[in-house]
Amino acid sequence: MTKRILVLGGGFAGVACTRKLESHFKHFSEVEISLVSEDNFLLFTPMLPQVASGTIETRHIVIPIRTICKKATFYEGRVKNIDPYGKRVALYGTNEKRGINLEYDYLVVALGSQTNFFGNQSVESNAYTMKTLNDAVVLRNRIIDMLEQAENERDPILKQSLLTFVVVGAGFAGIETAGEILDFLHDAKKHYPHISENDIKVVVLEALSIVLPGFSERLARFTRDKLIQRGVDIMLNTMVVSFDGSEVLIKDAVDPTRTAVKDPNMRSLQTKTLIWTAGVTPVDTIKNSMFKTDRGRVMVNEYLEVPDFPGVYVIGDCSLTIDPSTGKPYPPTAQNAEAEAKTAAYNLHATISGKTKSKIDHVSKGQMAIIGKRTAIAHIGGMNIHGFVAWCIWRTVYLRKIPKLNKRLRVLLDWTADLLFDRDISRLKIIRKDQPIDYKELDEVDDVW
Ligand SMILES: Cc1cc2nc3c(=O)[nH]c(=O)nc-3n(C[C@H](O)[C@H](O)[C@H](O)COP(=O)(O)OP(=O)(O)OC[C@H]3O[C@@H](n4cnc5c(N)ncnc54)[C@H](O)[C@@H]3O)c2cc1C
Repeated sequence: MTKRILVLGGGFAGVACTRKLESHFKHFSEVEISLVSEDNFLLFTPMLPQVASGTIETRHIVIPIRTICKKATFYEGRVKNIDPYGKRVALYGTNEKRGINLEYDYLVVALGSQTNFFGNQSVESNAYTMKTLNDAVVLRNRIIDMLEQAENERDPILKQSLLTFVVVGAGFAGIETAGEILDFLHDAKKHYPHISENDIKVVVLEALSIVLPGFSERLARFTRDKLIQRGVDIMLNTMVVSFDGSEVLIKDAVDPTRTAVKDPNMRSLQTKTLIWTAGVTPVDTIKNSMFKTDRGRVMVNEYLEVPDFPGVYVIGDCSLTIDPSTGKPYPPTAQNAEAEAKTAAYNLHATISGKTKSKIDHVSKGQMAIIGKRTAIAHIGGMNIHGFVAWCIWRTVYLRKIPKLNKRLRVLLDWTADLLFDRDISRLKIIRKDQPIDYKELDEVDDVW
């Protein structure tokens, strides 16, 4: 009898799992693999900040799913509901497409995460984010717009506020975004004769007392010192209270283990652009599902299966997978997502072919972050490397990780062009912030079709 495996999510976890399944079941004609994702491409997020700074062209960091998952049936659609009792997944319809139900025997959930605003409405309404391709393009347009407006602004206070860019969060995404914005502003300013280096301000706000938690103290200190040396203002132990589009209200972060400070030193920064990268949380589809979650992430066993629903695997950012070597959850990274994808695919193959399943035992191969022009940090094979050598390693490793040769070459050409030519400062008014998609519930229409 045919076995149907359905994978939800076309990010690092979903695509890696589908590709592994295609390879495991190459000679199994009675296994059907399907993949559903909202976008028809895999977004290579480690290079997203470089799209925001215009170093890499937008389409070069996205890989069409159909070109890398050739055997699976691909559905471009948004998951509306997962019914693990009926073993069915419902997809939304829109004006253009029909809402459908997909039935499965085995399910892999890899729906990833979304920006976490921690309930701060003012920030959610007014801040820029760095999670999707649209976010990167919108932010690039915003930076160019601010330069254009500041160039002709005669009010020094307003001019300063236009040229102040505040990044909230000093994790991977925040530090890389701050470094890229600074590089872009310094390169672009030569086209704006009334803007000097001193007018430009990039600020990083972080609630913790360190940058890049997860890296060694030495690399974190190197990053902080390097960014400060390059002119980035780093404010640690600082929390955002609100942002109204012109002013960000901040206060000292309170250590929950200590008694709350009566007056947490409230103050403000004038800025027109706040970029929020302070955390991610699993997507709403997961939060609204029937799976047991902990801080939004689905709890799975060591085989990555949901204990209450055998045959349902949850991997990537939306899964709470415990690292057996530390006893703590794996952090939400692409590397961990791909390792979990490999285990889930192996276990599905083992289940269907009557073999023994394997437990997750992934050990991190290391981590890297770009922190600005020709500078990076890397922790590989127990070694801490920083500076130009780490930057070369970053570029080599991540270039090799892009799954299609043509995209790899395009990125390489973009990087080469960036060494030779000025940044492009054309502002393309094609994509606006928050284009709502009019999702329709077309269940009734389904009956008519
Ligand atoms: C700017 C930035 C830089 C980063 N840099 C690094 C790095 O250098 N190294 C590293 O290891 N990690 C990095 N990360 C983290 C990494 O991107 C994530 O951990 C990784 O993408 C998680 O993979 P995933 O498949 O679980 O989720 P995602 O990649 O988020 O994929 C989820 C997929 O599900 C789809 N989806 C979501 N909801 C629905 C729905 N309802 N219906 C249909 N489809 C849906 C999404 O469109 C997406 O395709 C970075 C992240 C960002 C934002």
